[in-house]
Amino acid sequence: MRASRYLIATQKETPSDAEIISHQLMLRAGMIRKLAAGLYTWLPMGLRTLRKVERIVREEMDKSGAQEVLMPAIQPAELWQESGRWTQYGGELLRMNDRHGREFCFGPTHEEVITDLIRNELKSYKELPANFYQIQTKFRDERRPRFGVMRAREFIMKDAYSFHVNAESLDETYQVMHRTYCAIFDRLGLDYRPVQADSGAIGGSASHEFHVLASSGEDDIVFSTDSDYAANIEKAEAVAPSGERPAPAEELQEIATPEQRTIEAISEFLKVAPTRTVKTLLVKSEADENGESGLIALILRGDHTLNEIKAENLEGVAEPLTMATDEEIEAAIGCKAGSIGPVNLPVPLIVDRSAAHLADFVCGANKEGYHLTGVNWERDLPLGRVEDIRNVVEGDPSPDGKGTLEIRRGIEVGHIFKLGNKYSTAMNATVLDENGKTVIMDMGCYGIGVSRIVAASIEQNHDDKGIIWPDAIAPFQVAIVTLNAHKTPTVAEAGEKLYEQLKQAGYDVLLDDRKERPGVKFADMELIGIPHRFVISDRGLKSGTLEYKGRRDADKQDVAIEDALPLLV
Ligand code: ATP
Ligand code: MG
Ligand code: MG
Ligand code: MG
Repeated sequence: MRASRYLIATQKETPSDAEIISHQLMLRAGMIRKLAAGLYTWLPMGLRTLRKVERIVREEMDKSGAQEVLMPAIQPAELWQESGRWTQYGGELLRMNDRHGREFCFGPTHEEVITDLIRNELKSYKELPANFYQIQTKFRDERRPRFGVMRAREFIMKDAYSFHVNAESLDETYQVMHRTYCAIFDRLGLDYRPVQADSGAIGGSASHEFHVLASSGEDDIVFSTDSDYAANIEKAEAVAPSGERPAPAEELQEIATPEQRTIEAISEFLKVAPTRTVKTLLVKSEADENGESGLIALILRGDHTLNEIKAENLEGVAEPLTMATDEEIEAAIGCKAGSIGPVNLPVPLIVDRSAAHLADFVCGANKEGYHLTGVNWERDLPLGRVEDIRNVVEGDPSPDGKGTLEIRRGIEVGHIFKLGNKYSTAMNATVLDENGKTVIMDMGCYGIGVSRIVAASIEQNHDDKGIIWPDAIAPFQVAIVTLNAHKTPTVAEAGEKLYEQLKQAGYDVLLDDRKERPGVKFADMELIGIPHRFVISDRGLKSGTLEYKGRRDADKQDVAIEDALPLLV
């Protein structure tokens, strides 16, 4: 591709509404543009990487024996009524009517559609096991779309659904998918961990999530220092070795009985805030030398089930603080616990990032009274003091007895799930078994966030100059930058020649033949993150060389022109 004929939509300034590095760099490198909240256009540069991620996913899924299909994005309400999810799914489901008034939804996932297809197509155990996948656009009306394509409303998912005559067969395919996911994330060059996940409400028997490790991740994952034990925080808490569950949160009214006016203040605040489930969390410090203890209440709102779960995790996280010393609490919340005088929390108490969207405000209290610190509901809260709190939490032994637990942040890029017979029972998806008896099929489902992976990869691969793509998913693997080519025909010619040679050898090459200053071209190629760069200049050509620099290299090197291609291999 010639840069002069290609949309290089780079930007110098960091967009103010992009908080995490991948979102900033995807905008600055001209990969995506926002259309509306959670809706993004993929520009040519971004789409190249997205397609490469898709290709790797597709190749490995094909290798696993799964068959590709493509189902409609729009789904009829009847199927969702049959499974019971039309009423259960909640606000993320985008519903619509056609001109005849029939109800539809834009698919957030495809269990119903595939189950309907397969109950009609497959009749016998002989046709099982079977695994079908698609790479397709999903829509989830996320309450807080953010971080660009990381948590979008419209996004690309690879979803697969397997069908089985019994649980053993499901086990086997589940293991194949586990291995396939590892192969995919290995090829993508991601630093990731498969973790046990809670199969919770869906009622399946096993589930694993695949998390890319990154501080910007919205999930907590817990793993052992000395074994393969790894779980997401919900699962880890469900099997917490100590067996000590955090005490249930006290009700708001109970904490403030002596200070009636404080309850009024809190109630006033709650009146103006949107109506949602309110949870409170109390953290009490030890008494100081005057016998006074500080009391911190964190007030949470969960507006749907997931948030409820996370709110509960938060209680678990904070519980050790009740046993912490004043110093630990002070370090964690940044204010003097039990101190005389108003406690003004300088920052909201943010226990973790996923909790950040739950924390409406924090109130601090001591014998002088209670003080509310309002927190803007729609605004992202600054990350702060997370590590201090985390340190208090960690140290539990691993449930398998090997090593201690560590908590890290993860980005969920994949999720595999044994669904069992939840959908097949609800929708009567059966086959005949060996004895000619009708049996309900077992099912598994397997998702990968294809578009999220692009952002997750950038979270792990960047520096202050921009993105650093691994070769496998770079939009272009090689950049050839010609200097003053419009004035120097020999440079233009040498550039064309190398361009053809590298293309012949199978590389995706961007020839930067733009009439821009060298500094501008270098900065763009670095921002875009092209892994290999050749520079062709008049001066170099006179000595038969060109300049090479790998995107991660500290120094550039001169190489003989004929050595350019061999250098890449
Ligand atoms: P999350 O916990 O991040 O909301 P999820 O558990 O709801 O994700 P799944 O239903 O497991 O998501 O869907 C499979 C995969 O789709 C996820 O592992 C994730 O990689 C991706 N995904 C889910 N929601 C989004 C989104 N809003 N934007 C981009 N990718 C998403
Ligand atoms: Mg979700
Ligand atoms: Mg999840
Ligand atoms: Mg999931």
